[in-house]
Amino acid sequence: MQGMAQAGFWIAVYLAAVLAPLGLLLVAPTPRGGGFWWDVAMGFGFAGLAMMAVQFLLTARFRRATAPFGIDVVYYFHRYLAYVLVAVLVAHPVVLILINPAQRMYLNPLEAPWEMTAGSLSLLSLLALIVSSAWRKNLGIPYDGWRVVHLILAVAAMALGFYHMWAIGYYSGTPVVRVVWALIGLSVLAVVFRVRLLRPWSLLQRPFRVTEVREERGDSWTLAMEPVGHGGFAFEPGQFAWVTLGHSPFAMREHPFSIASSPVPDGRLEFTIKELGDFTRTVGQIEPGEPAYVDGPYGAFSLDRHPDAAGYTFIAGGIGVAPMASMLRALADREDPRSHILFAAHSDWERIPLRDEFQRLREHLDLEVVHVLEEPPEDWSGETGWITREVLDRHLPENRDEMEYFICGPIPMIQKVEGFLDELGIPASRVRTELFDLA
Ligand SMILES: Cc1cc2nc3c(=O)[nH]c(=O)nc-3n(C[C@H](O)[C@H](O)[C@H](O)COP(=O)(O)OP(=O)(O)OC[C@H]3O[C@@H](n4cnc5c(N)ncnc54)[C@H](O)[C@@H]3O)c2cc1C
Repeated sequence: MQGMAQAGFWIAVYLAAVLAPLGLLLVAPTPRGGGFWWDVAMGFGFAGLAMMAVQFLLTARFRRATAPFGIDVVYYFHRYLAYVLVAVLVAHPVVLILINPAQRMYLNPLEAPWEMTAGSLSLLSLLALIVSSAWRKNLGIPYDGWRVVHLILAVAAMALGFYHMWAIGYYSGTPVVRVVWALIGLSVLAVVFRVRLLRPWSLLQRPFRVTEVREERGDSWTLAMEPVGHGGFAFEPGQFAWVTLGHSPFAMREHPFSIASSPVPDGRLEFTIKELGDFTRTVGQIEPGEPAYVDGPYGAFSLDRHPDAAGYTFIAGGIGVAPMASMLRALADREDPRSHILFAAHSDWERIPLRDEFQRLREHLDLEVVHVLEEPPEDWSGETGWITREVLDRHLPENRDEMEYFICGPIPMIQKVEGFLDELGIPASRVRTELFDLA
């Protein structure tokens, strides 16, 4: 309930931030205009610009604002909102041209005054940003390069759009409106400063050092690291952090990984990482002693947020076992007396990361581990294929609707399992998911 109230509060803050500039239109003196549709077009412009400013705040990783939703949900919101804001901003010139076709001339940079061209360039930057983000994988743009381009296009779109609005001055010429927009502009600058300079600088002051690189089954590696000259940070089991290895924290080369270890007083951390692409394929070559920068913790995927459950059910696909390991290790450290289940879906028996660790944890916990294998060995008597409604039904206890559920794995698996749990009568309010795909 408290989480819902917090979520409601932050949604209200979001709506207020986006709608405030529209509210200002009502109090500002009406400039010479072209009637109702002209005002509507202005409204689209102001609302779009305000939404653009809020986009910067959404990915600034403010812990308090993202906590009720989970940061992955906030990133998805940022992504889908981008389409809405582009539609709103495109509507701004489209409506103006529809009510007065002569205004088409403003699209021609040779004829238009510079402040009009700034508006067109802002829109073009935004369209380039959308295309390079939505089709990044199809266009073969590497993730790290895309992040830099994304930042440049976003700042360009915002700055040009801001200048367009400011220089033209319709509805924005009065001192009070100018002050509000100046504050919005300064907030965006402050966020960029905080995210790109202040935070990397503070990470530089609190480095970690890799202490061990352990090979795991299924092309995975566990990286152990310890804080150097500080106590590390407190986290809730199941949360994740952005990790930079082999680069300065200013280099924008960080990757999100779930913390796989349980919280310990000396701040040591472990991450279990699957070889997947450019960066993760290099993890096995990292040497102990290498400096690491860890920005965390983030995320809401933790049993500590749901302490009153009758027990916990963890449902993992592939490397989705990493946050589950953190939560199970924490339960074992705390000598938790409740009954728990781990469903782990993998291709074959030899490729299950942390398999032996889950076996070890069974000695310390009332834990049932259900491996579901796509390609089982010949003598396999356990579950086969995928995690289905029947598999869940066979192993979940009578009091299943009093348990708390954590799902992490490929997106189609998460969606299917959510559906199965629903069919089994598990309330949606008891189901948590973690997406390993932010971008
Ligand atoms: C909250 C969260 C927790 C995660 N926990 C784990 C974990 O415990 N273990 C694990 O093995 N993997 C985890 N991942 C996935 C991991 O972040 C990606 O596999 C890794 O970043 C891929 O990088 P790459 O350069 O090897 O792959 P690439 O081939 O370059 O990229 C593959 C895809 O991974 C995504 N990706 C790449 N770089 C980044 C980045 N810097 N930030 C965000 N996404 C990126 C992009 O969608 C990209 O298309 C997690 C992801 C998230 C969002």
